[in-house]
Amino acid sequence: MCGHATENYGFMTKDIFQKIINECKRCEIHALIFGGAWGEPTLHPDWQRMIKVSVSHGFTTLISTNGSRLDTGAIGFLASSGIKQLQISFSGFDKESYESIYINGKFSKINEVLLNIKKIFLRHPSPPEILIHGVVEHSRPQKYVDRIYRYLYSCGYSDSEINMVRPTNFGGKKMNMEDNKVGLKSKTILKSLLQLCTVLTDGVGIYWNGKVTACPCADNDGKMIIGNILEESISDMRKSSYFNNIVRCFEDNNLSSLEMCSKCDIPYTRERNIAAILPSWLGTTGISIIEATYGLNCRGEKGVKIMLGNVTGLLQKKCNWKRKIEFVVDVNELGDRAPGMEKDLVITWCYAEDPMMTPYHLYIPAEAHGKVVAIPMINPAGKTLKSEHE
Ligand code: SF4
Repeated sequence: MCGHATENYGFMTKDIFQKIINECKRCEIHALIFGGAWGEPTLHPDWQRMIKVSVSHGFTTLISTNGSRLDTGAIGFLASSGIKQLQISFSGFDKESYESIYINGKFSKINEVLLNIKKIFLRHPSPPEILIHGVVEHSRPQKYVDRIYRYLYSCGYSDSEINMVRPTNFGGKKMNMEDNKVGLKSKTILKSLLQLCTVLTDGVGIYWNGKVTACPCADNDGKMIIGNILEESISDMRKSSYFNNIVRCFEDNNLSSLEMCSKCDIPYTRERNIAAILPSWLGTTGISIIEATYGLNCRGEKGVKIMLGNVTGLLQKKCNWKRKIEFVVDVNELGDRAPGMEKDLVITWCYAEDPMMTPYHLYIPAEAHGKVVAIPMINPAGKTLKSEHE
């Protein structure tokens, strides 16, 4: 379930858009997504020109839309636009199921759009990828989900083009469907581990007026503003003490000072279960690396594929069972998965002595190579000393 933009709505001017293009090029950002959680991009009177500009500057370009305004001309434009992916927000299989989620939406219209996209894209030699993405409330049984899939198959879509997920609570702002409460209450979530939020590490969101939020997924109200693109660079915003403090809160497992993140279920939604992630390598004493990923910030840029946990095994061999760790990050040791690009490093670990198996996180922003990783020993109270990096 997406939130709706409240105070944050308006149309981006040509000048602000151009500023974003220039700034993203300067900061070597390679992907632009039109849409997100803040409104319908095809409402902008100039959206097709903006898409063309993005593609012409070489950005990997994606658009996320509810599809309601896509006539055959717009679909034809998208088919030949050179964008990487067209994402359609959709859930349901008939008038009642669709219109109960998409308020003011018309099932007859979206049905026509879905059929036209397939028809028109099939005629094009190299159309964008399609992703039909939607949420299904927790209360809906599997047979309900199956009906959505069957409907989309009948429109010509395949499994690889459909992604139906359970809803998140959208930064703690939406009711959790599992127990009808707002906030971090879900039983599923409470059994899961807090992860450093990849929404936070993967990108930023830019509002119509140039304001930049650290959370490009759930912050449609300007609660996590880190600056304005008209006044400072994205790289400076990401290096600011404000942004680093947000990351530090995740590292410290203490989100209480972060209004949205502290109530948000998104960083738990990988639904990891401690029993599943702590296999036989868990020792009886010392540090146990749960997951380590090198270069996550490069994922998707210039076609780079970064697997979560890509250096987990390597760091387990290096670090597990030790009481305290200190080493210098070396690209040659970790393996260069994105040559020529600055890479970050995320490490999650726990201590075998801790009966709660509390996960701790360390995030070293790019460029991590050459920086020192220092994981402290557990203290008698079962808490770590502060994690550090230089
Ligand atoms: S945890 Fe924070 S940064 Fe991540 S999605 Fe939720 S509100 Fe956004």
